[in-house]
Amino acid sequence: MRSVRSQIALTFIVISVLVIVLLGVLLSYEIEKYYFDRLLASLRTETMVIAALLQESARRSESRENMEKDLAAFASAAQMRITLIDSSGVVVYDSSVPDSLLQSLENHSQRQEITEARQTGTGANVRFSKSILQDLVYVARKVESPRASAAVFPSLQFVRVSVALTEVNRVMYEIRFKIVIVSIMILVVVLIVTQIVSKRLTKPLTEIAEMVKEIKAGNLDQKLPVRSNDEIGRLAELINEMTDKLKADIEQLKKLERVRSEFLGNVSHELRTPIFSLKGFIETLLEGAVDDPAVNRRFLEKAYHHANRLDTLLSDLIEISRIESGEMKMSFRYVDAVSILKNLIADFSDSAAKRKQSLLVEVPDREVLVLGDKDRLRQALGNIVDNAIKYSPEGAATTVRLIEAERSTTISISDAGPGIEDEHLPRIFERFYRVDKTRSREVGGTGLGLAIAKHIVEAHSSQISVTSEMGKGTIFSFELKK
Ligand code: ADP
Repeated sequence: MRSVRSQIALTFIVISVLVIVLLGVLLSYEIEKYYFDRLLASLRTETMVIAALLQESARRSESRENMEKDLAAFASAAQMRITLIDSSGVVVYDSSVPDSLLQSLENHSQRQEITEARQTGTGANVRFSKSILQDLVYVARKVESPRASAAVFPSLQFVRVSVALTEVNRVMYEIRFKIVIVSIMILVVVLIVTQIVSKRLTKPLTEIAEMVKEIKAGNLDQKLPVRSNDEIGRLAELINEMTDKLKADIEQLKKLERVRSEFLGNVSHELRTPIFSLKGFIETLLEGAVDDPAVNRRFLEKAYHHANRLDTLLSDLIEISRIESGEMKMSFRYVDAVSILKNLIADFSDSAAKRKQSLLVEVPDREVLVLGDKDRLRQALGNIVDNAIKYSPEGAATTVRLIEAERSTTISISDAGPGIEDEHLPRIFERFYRVDKTRSREVGGTGLGLAIAKHIVEAHSSQISVTSEMGKGTIFSFELKK
């Protein structure tokens, strides 16, 4: 697998090389063109100067010898070859060829620079010169008034200059060399920058990969440094958030697992007591007590009592597990809270009467609609009222109230029982938590009643609250939305 870093570097380098080569070629082409154009322009100027020089010499009626001397001096000073050609293409003077050999030169009328000059005034051409065996640049000019120098150079029509291309090539070579050097320097800088940039870009990715490896191994305590504000920084941030979330979730799961096994322990413990007693009574009966009319009925009643206890315990257990697993669905409707409370009181009147207690209800004389699940509310309220009756002494009174406010209705159940000490108050809603275990068992408690009530009230988006004063009584209350 090719690393992201090398991929970035490679892309960068390929693009840079392409751009640099392209720019280099373009630049050298343009520079060469510019240089060559300037050379041609200056050679054209030279032809003009020579033409003017010839005219001036003719005006002063100078001898051919003097003229040739001037031309030779000019040619050597400017490091070029000067050729004068007449209208029929015959070379009448050449600074590189002695006059005596002029006759042996080819006719120049068909040379490209000459034909061009004949048509447009000036002409240029680059080619290999057979006379001096070199690549030459030729520039020719048609002379304006050949008559002026006619005495010396009859029918002179073209002034031509030429320079060796070696010099031009040398300059070009120098330019190209410089371009190559600069390109290499730029490339080196690009390489260095690429290394730095790709390293900086991929370092966080490497760190993220390391971190994910750690997460995979179960180590969630590490944090990624967030170095930038870009996508990579955001990714690091997200991974940190994800680890935090995972950590919290795992802690939650562990806690749940603890709670579960604790619950299981509690459940087995709770079940064991009634089953143990049940077994005991049945065993005693089987061992002979069944035939003893003095005890057999009492023992059977006790066995029945424990079987009942087991039954309530199991019902409560099923309820709480249904609530906690989310299996129990609430169905919310507008229901009349007044009738719920009145029915509740009616249902518990017998058990209150058994304990010579009074059960009072303070509600308005009309319907009060609240949003809730009727059966579940009835169940929660039942558990609270049941406790009030169970834990209050004989003759005490329990009052169920309904207090209306603008947006909500509060239901409260106050008893004149023993009260609950402050230290126990926050815990009585926990499963199986009892202030006094023996007392709870005596009265047939399962330790789940308030836990169930709390769940139901919370499912109504509300909170159950409790205040208590030792020796005076306890008040449970919660609000319901109208
Ligand atoms: P239990 O089945 O034991 O009554 P609950 O969950 O209903 O379980 O109540 C938890 C504990 O809170 C009870 O064991 C009891 O100690 C205490 N308790 C509940 N209601 C009252 C009350 N009205 N007066 C005094 N103590 C109460």
